[in-house]
Amino acid sequence: MALRTLEDLGDLAGKRVVVRCDLNVPLADGTITDDGRVRASLGTLNRLIGVGARVIVISHLGRPDGERKAEFSLAPVAQRLSELLGKPVAFCDETVGDAATAAAEALEDGDVLVLENLRFNSEETAKDVGVRGDFADRIAAMGEAFVSDGFGVVHRKQASVYELAGALPSAAGLLIEQELGVLERLTTEPERPYTVVLGGSKVSDKLGVIAHLLPRVDTLCIGGGMLFTFLAAQGHGVGSSLLERDQLDTVRGYLDEAAQRGVTIDLPTDVVVASGFAADAEHEVVAADAIESARFGADGIGLDIGPETAARFADAVRGSRTVFWNGPMGVFEFPAFAAGTKTVAQALTEVEGLGVVGGGDSAAAVRSLGFDDDQFGHISTGGGASLEFLEGKSLPGLEALGWSA
Ligand code: ADP
Ligand code: MG
Repeated sequence: MALRTLEDLGDLAGKRVVVRCDLNVPLADGTITDDGRVRASLGTLNRLIGVGARVIVISHLGRPDGERKAEFSLAPVAQRLSELLGKPVAFCDETVGDAATAAAEALEDGDVLVLENLRFNSEETAKDVGVRGDFADRIAAMGEAFVSDGFGVVHRKQASVYELAGALPSAAGLLIEQELGVLERLTTEPERPYTVVLGGSKVSDKLGVIAHLLPRVDTLCIGGGMLFTFLAAQGHGVGSSLLERDQLDTVRGYLDEAAQRGVTIDLPTDVVVASGFAADAEHEVVAADAIESARFGADGIGLDIGPETAARFADAVRGSRTVFWNGPMGVFEFPAFAAGTKTVAQALTEVEGLGVVGGGDSAAAVRSLGFDDDQFGHISTGGGASLEFLEGKSLPGLEALGWSA
């Protein structure tokens, strides 16, 4: 079935429209360090402003665990949104309640209001369907229509993502429509060669996607924290590097299956090993099968792929017509361990075909390394959501909008 889109909501002029955005930006001391997700929300918001809707923006930020915590306030995000929209944006320091309702009722046509962090309310992520439903109803009471545009959360069964879509006439916004279009190109007859590059630190989350991708891709490059689980599965010592011992058998299974299917799993042949997890840690390039016999012994911790590996991954990427990349190749936040990520990102900008970056940290990485968004085919705002889509899982937030595979 097809996704309901903005057109399905009819004329929104003068109507109060609740918009679920994903404004979950990285903050350091109250300053937004990457506003990519705010920018990604502008298309839908400008469209609604343009037709004279009264726009009520809701979002989560971080994990305040159901409590009001000043460092997770959306106030600085509302400020940034105002700058990017080039117009005033009202902010209310509660999500639901008398003040929020009054602020919503004060809106004129084309005005924008941001409500405080959804996750200051434990109901948003409650396990109990009834609790979530009541919270969704309180949000719904402020609006006349609901636009779901937080692609980064569509894999979550949460009040503002799932129940709210059933509590008001609802449709997907432009960001979700666009993200879904790209993901469908990655799963439905992708142009070949098709390469997927996986890295980052959420190892067990990402291992799941491999099973689903093996029958579909030509090459799978493994970097980031998960590479050490693969090296260990092949019997190599990995020192103090990130390692998921309970996944070793699973990983061996993937290696066998890949061999049977003729899929290349490209594992690093060299890694950058450091004396500890720190920006200024001493480090050296070591053969991937000799981490523990090198200078730092069992204390050595792998923080990036080595130059030989990075060059090989870059060749695989450049030679492909479809590429999906999720997860930095190393601890790019430390300049000494950013080279692998930078080399792969550069190659992705040179792909003739579709090159997609997925994942919050991956998107932040390419920006912080000096690349422009428009150098890439697509930068997805949702890491977990895009991975679950590629895994073939059902996404509750999309199904609530009429979509099914
Ligand atoms: P994304 O948000 O793009 O899906 P993740 O959240 O899975 O990516 O992982 C991002 C993090 O992975 C980064 O903060 C980076 O420092 C970390 N990382 C990458 N390589 C390693 C490594 N070898 N050891 C530890 N952490 C790593
Ligand atoms: Mg992340």
